[in-house]
Amino acid sequence: MINANDPHLKSWLYIESGSDFPIQNIPFGVFKPKNRTNPRVGTRLGNFVIDLAAIAELGYFKTEGIPSKEVFERHTLNDFIALGKPVWRNVREKISEIFNLENREFWNTPDFREDVVYNLLDIEMLMPVSVGDYTDFYSSLEHATNVGKMFRDVNNPLLPNWKHIPVGYHGRSSSIVISGTNIHRPMGQIIVGEDENPIFSPSRNLDFELELAFISGKTSKLGERISTKEAVNSIFGLVLFNDLSARDIQRWEYVPLGPFLSKNFGSVISPWVVTLDALEPFKVHGPKQDVPVLPYLEFDGASNYDIHLEVFLQPEDGRENRICRSNFKYMYWNMFQQLAHQTVGGCNINVGDLYGSGTISGPTHDSFGSMLELSWKGTKPILLSDGSSRKFLEDNDTVIFRGHAEKDGIKIGFGEATTKILPAIQ
Ligand code: CA
Repeated sequence: MINANDPHLKSWLYIESGSDFPIQNIPFGVFKPKNRTNPRVGTRLGNFVIDLAAIAELGYFKTEGIPSKEVFERHTLNDFIALGKPVWRNVREKISEIFNLENREFWNTPDFREDVVYNLLDIEMLMPVSVGDYTDFYSSLEHATNVGKMFRDVNNPLLPNWKHIPVGYHGRSSSIVISGTNIHRPMGQIIVGEDENPIFSPSRNLDFELELAFISGKTSKLGERISTKEAVNSIFGLVLFNDLSARDIQRWEYVPLGPFLSKNFGSVISPWVVTLDALEPFKVHGPKQDVPVLPYLEFDGASNYDIHLEVFLQPEDGRENRICRSNFKYMYWNMFQQLAHQTVGGCNINVGDLYGSGTISGPTHDSFGSMLELSWKGTKPILLSDGSSRKFLEDNDTVIFRGHAEKDGIKIGFGEATTKILPAIQ
């Protein structure tokens, strides 16, 4: 039993009802107070950000396996994550205890509050982890089927390997950025109409991909495999992930080695890493895998998480339009199978590596996780509230991802992953 997940807990800090960050969440992130020069590791409760370095300095993490407060004074979570799952769990439990409404020790101590609690307006969020390696999977049956129907064969959309392998590719980590970072439309080679030769141009088919990404909580040795069972304890947590994609560049370049420049110009994550511990109450069984998988990919029990996901598109000077509602529970291949597959040949992983789920599409048209699918390759434009329509993203459009799990009156949210599309640099 994880005490911090008790749905009855309340905090002595004021948390608005419906907040993504009740006392049952306790995500981890890195922030910089506006009045200080150095970043700190923190957690979030409602609209407050909690300085874990300050809590450590006051001596409250002494028995939680934290060697020194310095681990919370880093620019990233990597050193904290490297301490391992028992420590993440202990620290989350301790934070829950400190901010519990029934714990009078702290809320009657003004000094404690002054040292430890920041208003959201007085801080800036930074990239939570240093991402060494990044893998992007392709694990939604509905997404792979839609793409197969559009670009291959309506009657036979899946390639023969798809139900045997969690298909993926190694991506680019340098351009993974935090929510609020705006991205220029990429330049690249595209084919216009029926032309044989490409032109160099701003992408005309810029898209988002609705994904969640998991962050590895373990460093393994070269040659070592991580089983699906071990994978459960080797994942630190999840963030929202917008894997921006230029479909026209992709279409021309992807044969035969897969996506390259069409997906490396910017991918945006939400700043708070929500732990698998916090998501434990929202576990559900995944879709039935109707082709038997090889033994190393077998997984028993609830493998998926019921996480509602939404995409909003906001034109410049316009309102937010919700254009997609999907759910992480639809994923055909789960994270534990993805990590087992990643390492089965002996590939080593590091703490802080990031693994994109692949676009998360559901069974209905409004649950498709990309513009490519929502507008069906541009043939069904999406109507917006200002009267305009979109086949793909236009300059100055803002794309906002939101996500949360909800059960027994408790909502565990991810906040936002937001980015604005800026004009190409020509
Ligand atoms: Ca992707």
